[in-house]
This record gives sequence, structure tokens and C-alpha cells, in this order.
Amino acid sequence: MTATLTGLPALEHDEILRYSRHLIIPNVGMEGQRRLKAARVLLIGAGGLGSPLGLYLAAAGVGTLGIVDFDVVDATNLQRQILHGTKDVGRPKLASARDRIQDVNPHVNVELHETRLTSANALEILREYDVVIDGTDNFPTRYLTNDACVLLGKPNVYGSIFRFEGQASVFATADGPCYRCLFREPPPPGLVPSCAEGGVLGVLPGLIGTIQATEGIKLLLGIGETLVGRLLLVDALSMKFRTVKLRKDPDCPMCGTHEIRELIDYEQFCGILPDAAPDGGGGVPEITPSDLAAKLRRRDDFDLIDVREPYEQDIARIDGARLVPLGTLTEALGTLDSARDIVVHCRSGARSAKAVRQLQAAGFRRVWNLAGGILRWSDDVDPSVPKY
Ligand SMILES: [Zn+2]
Repeated sequence: MTATLTGLPALEHDEILRYSRHLIIPNVGMEGQRRLKAARVLLIGAGGLGSPLGLYLAAAGVGTLGIVDFDVVDATNLQRQILHGTKDVGRPKLASARDRIQDVNPHVNVELHETRLTSANALEILREYDVVIDGTDNFPTRYLTNDACVLLGKPNVYGSIFRFEGQASVFATADGPCYRCLFREPPPPGLVPSCAEGGVLGVLPGLIGTIQATEGIKLLLGIGETLVGRLLLVDALSMKFRTVKLRKDPDCPMCGTHEIRELIDYEQFCGILPDAAPDGGGGVPEITPSDLAAKLRRRDDFDLIDVREPYEQDIARIDGARLVPLGTLTEALGTLDSARDIVVHCRSGARSAKAVRQLQAAGFRRVWNLAGGILRWSDDVDPSVPKY
């Protein structure tokens, strides 16, 4: 026993057998494995990135894994969220994650935080962990995680994915930059589509989450060169990996000037209006799918506009709808008749709410948003229309 092992938990015989391929790597060894056993890692999110993170960190023998999530497993998750199985659809992601992780490695202590991470609870939750891993898919939580990590002095292993592209870095270490050094301000709401809107290749979170897990383990073991001060950019389509240097910004309001001393309202910071409905459709005139169906049956004189993309109409459509993708709405204004009633729909009701606002701003008075979009149309009116 060397002095460095003092205070680290011992490994049982079955753990020594389980981790033998780690124990024979000189950089890990008994000491490293005992460090992993002593470690406490927090995963923000049990989704696409959280899946490989949870599986590999558990398999590697990280002693305590905390997971923050409040979502329920949905059928559309299964294409990439390999923590969850078909039998788990409808279950809380945390319950599903716990069962799967304990099957992978019963030695791991899983701590569940079934809540949305907020400014009110973030410091309290993150404080208890050595390394925080950001597996979120939205800007408010990403800035919240960054800021809480800077305030607490916890390393933040960052990852993000979209379609065929991903990024990873390590933020908020003592000498390295933070997420705000890279992105001072969030993009305007609606400019950057989410994976739910824009899609993501199913294996991409596997690639990026596995890179995050690797960085997390290196941080815990104190080995190698981590992504501190570097942003890894992955393009799966051309299969190119490159890193760009990141500098700590002395003017960064978080880690540079420290002018931000406490957590703020991140929804507001990211331009998300508090009065908007969860689907973003708040505040515009709406029509329910049943009322639209009645209108179509009566052969009312009105225009039904579909503001989704052409490839979405290939998946599911409402008969009689005219396709005008949201990005082309402005140029199509001249082809629309403001004297007629117009019903606008999209997938879930968020983009069509934006379209209704655009039309209202252009002087259209008789415009309605289809509440819940084609998804609710499928639920309430026509189950033969597939949901996606
Ligand atoms: Zn910074």
C-alpha cells in the first residue's frame, strides 16, 4: 500500500476480476480503479448523450453516478437512447436508466434526481459531485450547467449534437475557458433547431457521449491531455475530427470578470417567453384538430397551410394542405389571400404558431394555428397518420 491510496475505498475480489483489464493498464492500475470507485459523477440528462455516458461510466466502475432527468421514455427516443429499451416506453427515464446501469454493474451507486435542473436547485445538486457531464439538449440548461460549474469550481464535460455533427470540450476548470468564453450569448430563440426539430443520426450521441465519458474518466484519474482549452468538432458525414483552440476570455462575465455571481433566469436569458405554451404556441388563435376536421367535412372555404419541410410531408400529411415551409413563408405571402380564413399547421404546433404571428404581422386577420399540430391530429382525428 502506498500513501496515495490512503482514504480510497478497497476493491472486493469480484471487483478486481471485473476491472482486470483496467488494472493492468499502467495509467490506471489499482490506484486509478480505487479513484474511480471513490468518484462521484453527475450526468445532466439520461437521453442520447446520457446513454453511452451512463453505460460506460458504470461499466468502468465509477462508484457513484448521479442522474438528473424528469422525462419519460418515448418511442422516438429508442433510435439513439440506448440506455432504454422498447419495454421501457412510458416509464420514467430515471427508473429505466437505474435498472439498466445496475444490470451493467451492481457495484455502482446510482443517485436519481427526478427534477428539471433549475437555478433554484442546480447548486445544491451539483455541489455533491466531482465532475459534471452536460448531456442536455437545450440552451437554458446548458448555460445553467456552465454557470453552476464555474460558481462551484467543478469541471463541466460538454457535448452537443445535431444531425451528423457534434462538439465536445471540458469547461470550467481552474485554468480553462467556460462555455460562455466560447458562446457569450445564446442564439436567438428558434434560430438553431433542436434535435426534435432538425433530427440527429442515432449513432452520433454514441460517438460524442463516449468522448465525454473518456474525458470524465481522464479527469477523475488525472491522466492524459483533456479537452480543456480545446473544442473537438466531429463531422460524421465526412468522418472528420478536428480540434480548435479555445482561450479563456478575460472579459467573460462568468469566469473572467466574475460579474455574474449567482445563477440567473436562463429561460429569459435565452429569450424563451414565460407565457408561451410548452410547444411554443401560446398567444395565437388556435383551432383544435376536431374543429378542423369538422371544417373540412363541411367543405368550408379556407386554406390549410403546412409550414413543415417537404421531407416531413413525405412522412405524414393532412389531405388538402398546401406546403409552404416556414422559411419560405415571407416570399409566399403574395400567393396567400388575406380575405380567406387560413389554418396553419406543423408537427407539434410551435412552428405554425410562429407562422401565425408572421401572417398577423403582415396584416392577415383570420389566421388560426392547429393546436398540437399533426401529432394531435393523429391522436384526435386520424390515427392512420403516423406520428414522428
Ligand atoms: Zn468563461
